[in-house]
Amino acid sequence: MALIDCPSCGKKMSDKAKTCPNCDFSYGEASVEDIERKENMKRFKKMHSIQNQSMLAMLLFIGGFGFMYWGGVAPGDTQHSAALMACVIGFLWYGINRVRIVLLKRSSK
Ligand SMILES: [Zn+2]
Repeated sequence: MALIDCPSCGKKMSDKAKTCPNCDFSYGEASVEDIERKENMKRFKKMHSIQNQSMLAMLLFIGGFGFMYWGGVAPGDTQHSAALMACVIGFLWYGINRVRIVLLKRSSK
């Protein structure tokens, strides 16, 4: 018995199991095309969520940046530090999401 990734929810399941214990996806009945379609859908959803996160990260970065320069706060203020923090986090988060998209695209080939 081996553990495989469920094509529907991605959780581990036994390759002997007919249905996934997590999402009731019937592995035994699904054709190769079904499984492929499910996996494509899963990848598409993941890509979509990463892209949404990229947008949020970008907004966080721009928001923090804008507030830092036009918010009328001086360096050293708590608000300035918070804005700087948002800026840094947004930047790093965006970078991480870019890497995740690249990795996801590579794994789909
Ligand atoms: Zn499942």
